[in-house]
Parts: sequence; structure tokens; C-alpha cells
Amino acid sequence: MITLNTEIIKISRVGQATAKKLAKIDVKTVNDLLFYFPYRYDDFGAISTIKNLKIGDRANIVGQIEIIQNKRSWRRRMYITEALVGDNTGQIKVIWFNQPFIARNLKPGDRISLAGKVEEDYTGLSMNSPIYEKISSGASIHTQGIIPNYHLTSNITQKQIRFLIKQIVALADIIPDWLPTEIIKRQKLLTLPEAIKRIHFPKTWQDVENAKTRLAFDELFLVQLRSQITKKQLQNATAHKIIFKERETKTFVNSLPYSLTPAQKKSAWEILQDMDKDQPMSRLLEGDVGSGKTVVAALAMLNVFLNGKQSVLMAPTEILAEQHYETLCKLFKNYNAKIGLITRNNRVLNYESGIMDLAGKKTKTTFLTQKLDIIIGTHALIQKNIKFNDLALAIIDEQHRFGVEQRKTLISKSNKNITPHLLSTTATPIPRTLALALYGDLDLSIINQMPSGRKPILTKVVPEDKRAAAYDFIRKQITAGRQIFVICPLIDISDKLGVKSVKEEYKKLNEIIFPDLEIGMLHGKLPATEKEEIMKKFKNNEIKIIVSTSVIEVGIDVPNATIMMIEGADRFGLAQLHQFRGRVGRGEHQSCCFLFSDSSSERTLKRLSAMEKYNDGFALSKIDLKFRGPGELYGFSQSGFPELKIASLFDYDLIKRTHEEVQKIINSNIKNYSKLAKKMVKNIKTTHLE
Ligand code: ADP
Ligand code: MG
Repeated sequence: MITLNTEIIKISRVGQATAKKLAKIDVKTVNDLLFYFPYRYDDFGAISTIKNLKIGDRANIVGQIEIIQNKRSWRRRMYITEALVGDNTGQIKVIWFNQPFIARNLKPGDRISLAGKVEEDYTGLSMNSPIYEKISSGASIHTQGIIPNYHLTSNITQKQIRFLIKQIVALADIIPDWLPTEIIKRQKLLTLPEAIKRIHFPKTWQDVENAKTRLAFDELFLVQLRSQITKKQLQNATAHKIIFKERETKTFVNSLPYSLTPAQKKSAWEILQDMDKDQPMSRLLEGDVGSGKTVVAALAMLNVFLNGKQSVLMAPTEILAEQHYETLCKLFKNYNAKIGLITRNNRVLNYESGIMDLAGKKTKTTFLTQKLDIIIGTHALIQKNIKFNDLALAIIDEQHRFGVEQRKTLISKSNKNITPHLLSTTATPIPRTLALALYGDLDLSIINQMPSGRKPILTKVVPEDKRAAAYDFIRKQITAGRQIFVICPLIDISDKLGVKSVKEEYKKLNEIIFPDLEIGMLHGKLPATEKEEIMKKFKNNEIKIIVSTSVIEVGIDVPNATIMMIEGADRFGLAQLHQFRGRVGRGEHQSCCFLFSDSSSERTLKRLSAMEKYNDGFALSKIDLKFRGPGELYGFSQSGFPELKIASLFDYDLIKRTHEEVQKIINSNIKNYSKLAKKMVKNIKTTHLE
């Protein structure tokens, strides 16, 4: 019997090869496939009669094959399949290129459904390379009505995945609906099984809308419920009270090479006030890229150090952890704070003694718990063997990069009965009211102004015919001493680490465009040591151009880099592009951001051109949303909220509705809702936000 947990390979017509391909997009079970939602829809509308077709129509016809044959075009060296298709009203010529197998699939007399554009050649109207579907029995799923499109891995076609989902979609009925019935009723939502069925095979746009609302409701509901539960738990916890050392803090601030912006001062003040209590702080520090969150976090760490306690800072990448390590070593050089770095390689560096290799795990644990004042690291910090001695403050940099469970594990590393103060940082621009609704457990400090003296970054969407000129400009900048970032998109979603696209781009630049220049590449598959080596060289200006996947997105600080060049820019959300752009414009030199796109769609180009006009992440996220068509679900990643795939951050109405329902649940007892309680446990375990 097929259940939700049945492996995909056990479904009829799924072979080893297909199963493997599906595994690449994390589809392993029936449940995974049911929850693998389309990202957009094509609307082929109603069936047209052949007589009424007009040139330029995107039409859907149903008819019978009258003739079909393959031809070989010698001049253009390709196969041409020609067919004549007729319905009661007329006939039309249909042509496919280089797909000779079609003539084997379709025979005269077959009834087929065709969807595509109507064109004209010297013999009259024709359809070129339409999507076709043999109508043997039942409804058609590829060519009629609203057709789902899925993000795919190589070698799986839309047809295959639709076919597979069609086979199992009825099983949606056995998905347990964890949302309490009273909420479903009150909010007039579809049941979960109904929503799943309609998201895959909607009959109308209203179906799409209703399914989206239910699924978005779920996402927002879970985020908020989780956050409220955490808040309740924290209310009874105890923290180390960190006495605000005003005089020393002023001395520290005065020793900085710049003066803090008012927003930085205010945020630091809020944090220090919070920590001066024996209830744990739980605060989110929000500020655009480059707004100077690190130094604010450092002020908190300084006070913890002056109180004789430990702080830990967890960053999402090794490069970033190392950068923080260096920054903090510099900031604290006049203090005898012992600062350490822990990354996957289990290396501990110490400012005073240079690199120390502490191979034995025992030594390392002891060393950490007893000696260090400030510990910086990556996910490696949450390994089992690492415990802290007197942890008073945990900082999670770029918090959305971590799963809920990871954040919790870090906090649980303090000694018994003490919960550390928690400071999370994010560059995701969300307005205060929204942040409070979504993250009810967090207080919020916002750095809403940039350090003075920053020049705005000049942004241009560069058409293909100006590419050479852009390269010339880049060369001039490099000659003048500057450095360049090149970001590559993920071409194939199964190439999760972006290895393929980075390698290709690197090869092009290294061999053809700038063969004389030092170029480095960064992608998720490189060993950590190699990544660090490359970043170090880039920081020292030994490498002029760095070609990277979006791993560069978070936090890298190289003030000498002045150009951010982004390939395939249309594949990123505007908020994400804005984050990339934030990597430049940090020094005294004028910086530029060049956006390239191989899309010629007017809407895409218009969307990208918003980057030229706006320099505000929040405004850009909003614009991004406007450009989503009704048939698009989650074509764009909403940087900062990977768990919101369908819900929009700007859907105030739905956020308000979910907020009210969450409040009701919290005020009663979640244990009264057994399915929901179970779902929450699972959700907290599996939410891995990246
Ligand atoms: P983010 O908020 O993106 O984490 P960082 O903390 O990395 O930003 O700061 C970006 C850069 O701005 C750093 O080089 C930092 O030294 C510098 N900076 C921070 N605050 C100020 C300030 N008040 N004036 C000038 N430069 C500053
Ligand atoms: Mg930062």
C-alpha cells in the first residue's frame, strides 16, 4: 500500500534513474513530491477551434493526427517532424524540430492536444514546436487549462514530473491536516489536502489563489507560533546580569577610528540596557548591509568581558567567522581579552600566540571553557564536545542562515540554569510591525542610517552589446588598483553549490577576457582552507577578481573592491541583489554594480532596472513582489526568509490574521491540539533555514 512515506521509486513507472534525479531536488518520498510545489503556471485557456486561430495566438487545440512524417533538412542538418492535425473545423500544419521520436510516438488517427503559438509560413498557418499530449483517456495535464511548471533538475522534464504528481495527487487526502478545524473554519481556508491538490492541478485562478492562501497561512502561522512558544519559555529563564560599564565603554568608543552613527549608539544602548538584567535578552539587530552592526555587537561583547564572562559569536560561513575574528582582535587589541576562532577544521587561533593547532578534542574543550573570553566560529560551535564555562552572551550573525534548532543548541551551551543573552543580527529589511508579528519573541533594534561619507553605488543593467565596454571599464579600475566581485547564478537547481556555473565563468574570464590578471573562484565545494586562502589573497589585493556563487552574499568586507558584477541577475530577487551590491561601496572610491541578464523579457528588465533607482532593501523587496505575476509562486527567493516560500512578507492582511490565531492558541494550551503540537515538534526539528 502506498503511504506518504513510500519511497518514490516504489511508484509505478519510476525507475532507478528517475528516482536518483528526484533525490537531487530532495524528493525522496510521496510526501516530498506532494509538497514539491510548482513555481508558476501557464494558462493555455480554453480549447480553440482551428478555424478561428489567428497568427500570434497562444492557443490550445484538440484534434486528430492526419499525416505525420519525419524529414531531414540537409542544409540545416536537422530533423523536421511535420504533421497535419485536423478538428471538425479545419486543419493546421504542425512542425517539430530535432525531435524525430515524436513521429514514433504519434500515429495518424491519434487524438492529441496541442498548446503553442500560432505562426504563419508560405503554406499558411502552422504551430511550431507546440507542447503535445496524446489524449488516450481522462483529462489532459500538459496542454489544457492552467498548467503547473516546476523547478527541475536536469533530465527531468515538466511532463515527467506532472505525470508523476498526477499519479499520486489523490494521496493528498491522507495528509493529516494539523491546523485546528476551528481555525480552518474561522479563516475560511481550504483543508490541507484540498490545497495540495489545487496547487498542483488548479482548474481556475481562484483555485490557485485559495491554495496559495492556505499554504501561506501555514508558513506564517508556524513561524509565529514557534516564536511565541520560545518567548514563553524564555520568560522564566535566568541570565547573567551584565553591568553596563559606562566609563570603559566610552573609552572604547572614543578609540574607534570613526564616530558611531546615532542609530548605532541607540541600538548599542538598547542592548546594554537589556543585558543589565537577570532575564535573558532576546533581541534582533536589524540594519542594511554595511550599516555597521559588527561594532555594535562588539560593544556588547566588551561589556560581557568587563564583567568577567564569556561571549560567543556564530557566523554562517568560515570566511565571515574569520573576518569577525580579525575585526574583533583589532578592536580589542588594547584589552587582554582572549579571543578564539573555531571552524570545521577544529582549529583554534589565538591573537596572542598566532595559530594554535589543538588536535585533541579534550584539550580543545578545556581550552575553550576555561581560557577564552570571546569565541567566534561557524556551525562548528554547536558540536557536542564544545561547552562554555561562563557564557553570558550568544550572538548569531545573519540569523536567518541558521536553523531554529541550531540557534537553540548554541544557547543551550551555557552552564545549567543560566540562559545567555541572545543577540541576532540580520540585514533583511522588514518593517518593525512585521518583525514583531513574525518574531514575537524578539525585541528589535534598527540601524536605519549608514555611516557618513559613503558614496551611493552606481548601478546599471548592462545590455549584452555593452558587455565589452563593461570589461574595459573593469580593466581600468583594476589598473587603478581596485578589485572586482563577479557573482554567478545557479543555472541548474540540482547544482546546489553552484560549482558548475562558477567554473564556467571563471574559465571564461581567466582564459579569454582577463588572461593576464589574477582571478580566484569561490564556491560551496571548495575545502575550507582553500576558501580562506582565496579570501585572504583577495583581502591583500593579490587577487583582482573573485568569481563566486552567492556564498559571498553575507558580510564580506573588502573596502578596496569597487565593482560588483552579477551574471544572470534575473535569477535573483531584488533584495538579494541589493545584498550583493552591499559588498562594494564600503571605501572611499566610487563603486558600481553591473547587472547582466540573458532574459529579454521586458518585465524582467523593468524589474532589474529598479536596482538603478532604489538604494533601499525594503523598497526593493516590495517592488520585487509587484513584479510577480498572478501565476508565479516563488520564482524569486526572498532573501532572509527561506521558510516563507509561498507567503509574502508584505501580505499584512494574512500576517494579521495568522497573528490573531496564534495568539488564541498561545492563550489556551497547545496540548489541546494534538496534531498541531506534533507538527510543532517536527517543525522545530526540521526547520533548517538554508
Ligand atoms: P554590517 O552591518 O553589514 O555587518 P559591518 O559591521 O561589517 O556592516 O560594517 C561595515 C564597515 O563599516 C566596516 O568596515 C566598519 O568598520 C565600518 N563602520 C562601521 N561603523 C562605522 C561608522 N560609524 N563610521 C564609519 N565606518 C563604520
Ligand atoms: Mg555583518
